[in-house]
Amino acid sequence: MQNFAIKISERKCSRSFAVPGFPFRSRWKDYYSGFFVLYVLVFAMGEIKVTVWNEYLHERKDPRVAKVYPDGIHAVIADYLKSQLGFQVRAATLDEPQHGLTDDVLSATDVLVWWGHMAHDRVSDEVVERIQQKVVLEGMGLIVLHSGHFSKIFRRLMGTTCNLKWREANEKERLWVVSTGHPIAEGIAEYFEIEHAEMYGEPFDIPAPDELVFISWFKGGEVFRSGCCFYRGMGKIFYFRPGHETLPIYYDPNVMRVIGNAVRWAAPVERPKPIPIFGNVKPLENLQ
Ligand code: ZN
Repeated sequence: MQNFAIKISERKCSRSFAVPGFPFRSRWKDYYSGFFVLYVLVFAMGEIKVTVWNEYLHERKDPRVAKVYPDGIHAVIADYLKSQLGFQVRAATLDEPQHGLTDDVLSATDVLVWWGHMAHDRVSDEVVERIQQKVVLEGMGLIVLHSGHFSKIFRRLMGTTCNLKWREANEKERLWVVSTGHPIAEGIAEYFEIEHAEMYGEPFDIPAPDELVFISWFKGGEVFRSGCCFYRGMGKIFYFRPGHETLPIYYDPNVMRVIGNAVRWAAPVERPKPIPIFGNVKPLENLQ
């Protein structure tokens, strides 16, 4: 066991980015070469185009919410993403024509981030249909936050009620990483805590997630699947529980890091067109 531990630590010390063409070996040079490669990759691959959507109603109606998010929850999330390398960010809100989610906007969106709470039923079915098509057929990523579990688009993509238990008691939440190597947990420790949170508890009526990244524990005793990945057709969906309009949770560095990681994870993958191919096809090999 001791030998094994020594081997691991030796491997850690000699770790390099192992990038072909980069002969650097010392650690500080590794970091510089890593950042350089990251810049090159960002320019080579292009930025991820993110649209952050918000109802933007609470913040304009309730002074308690406006105090925490004076320019809207979407503004805080968009500002964070803009501060990170590799994102091109815009925002859209419910009261805009077509909720700001026209075909042109969605066609120029790689990942849609969704916040909704008090007006799920005001989102038009036409827009919901358009989002679903973009996710399933074109691979647009969708990040659904907190009370978005009841949004039309999330319920449609899940096919279940998406109901859950809840309680507003400003209690402590501890989020455990349960998929240790998952890219959405990049940079996150074994767990992180939110001192004052709204409780969401199991059972959470969703299909079994394709990947589960976080489980929450609450001081009141409940647990909850807080970070759930789903694949639907070409698209990837991540449900992330933290948030609440009267709590400053979208200023928490761990929460925002997870959202940034999730956007990167959910971005569409490049495939040669046309993909997917369905229907009647000729055989690739001669059948005779
Ligand atoms: Zn809430």
